[in-house]
Amino acid sequence: MRGAVLYGPRDVRFERRDDPKILKPTDAIIRMSATCVCGSDLWDYRGINKVTQPTPIGHEYCGIVEEVGRAVTKIKPGQFVIGSFFASDNTCPNCQAGYHSSCQHREFVGGAQSDWLRVPLADGTLVATREAPSAELIPSLLTLSDVMGTGWFAADAANVKPGNTVAVVGDGAVGLLGVLSARQMGAGRIIAMSRHESRQKLAREFGATDIVTQRGDEGVARIKELTKGIEADAVLECVGTQESMMQAIRSTRAGGYLGYVGVPHGVALDGQELFFAHVHLHGGPAPARHYLPHLIDLVWSGKIDPGKVFDLTLPLEEVAQGYRAMDERRAIKTLLRP
Ligand SMILES: [Zn+2]
Ligand SMILES: [Zn+2]
Repeated sequence: MRGAVLYGPRDVRFERRDDPKILKPTDAIIRMSATCVCGSDLWDYRGINKVTQPTPIGHEYCGIVEEVGRAVTKIKPGQFVIGSFFASDNTCPNCQAGYHSSCQHREFVGGAQSDWLRVPLADGTLVATREAPSAELIPSLLTLSDVMGTGWFAADAANVKPGNTVAVVGDGAVGLLGVLSARQMGAGRIIAMSRHESRQKLAREFGATDIVTQRGDEGVARIKELTKGIEADAVLECVGTQESMMQAIRSTRAGGYLGYVGVPHGVALDGQELFFAHVHLHGGPAPARHYLPHLIDLVWSGKIDPGKVFDLTLPLEEVAQGYRAMDERRAIKTLLRP
């Protein structure tokens, strides 16, 4: 088969790789229908996370089951399935609590920007749709593998309730889908923080009522102004830098909730400031698997259309171009078709 391999900073190559095989009886092999580039892949691509050896890359996937190991009982060849970037057993105490991304047996699923993929713990990790989806549904279903589940978790962790004022820090695909999630959960006012016109437009389409273009403390001041000094009931942090985290904490009202899903890079919090902020903090790697059945229903019934975040579609072999476009912020998110 063929797949994307990251060799070093800004060096993605499309190469022949060995076909994946069933290694454990709980594995499945899927034939990719679509895959994509994630904002978090850019940390590796830009060399912020060190890459020490050529590494197959990509972790968002959906496709048709080709083969299953002998211990797999629920997932069957021929089904269309979506899975999370963390494989999980769906049975341990952490999975039962809804935290599949902290499964006691979790395994990272890597190398998904490829024709085929081995998925561990198939019965726990994969969710099959009732029937094969139409081609138009595939981009939206693909987002449930990570980016939409992550936006949803940000809103869920921020305890978004009907009528709430919500602020979203970050206008990448996750932030935009955080806007969509907050709207779906009934938020009354949604303030999207974005400087880019095309992203502002999509944020409005997804339900943003206000746009704030300022960043850092100026952004905080603007939120204060918009909320008559109270600040937001719920804030979604979807970037992972010191500036974005502080902006999020300082935009949350006393007693409010902050859901943070941007993978932190160099973030350090001051105990005193946190103590006096009176803010609930909750975040981490999203339990995308937990939300899959509900989000599949929402996509299937046409209630949400998260696939709109893909503003660039390329054949899989042009994966390097997909990275470049996202790195240079020419694209919000790149869909790849094998
Ligand atoms: Zn991702
Ligand atoms: Zn588990």
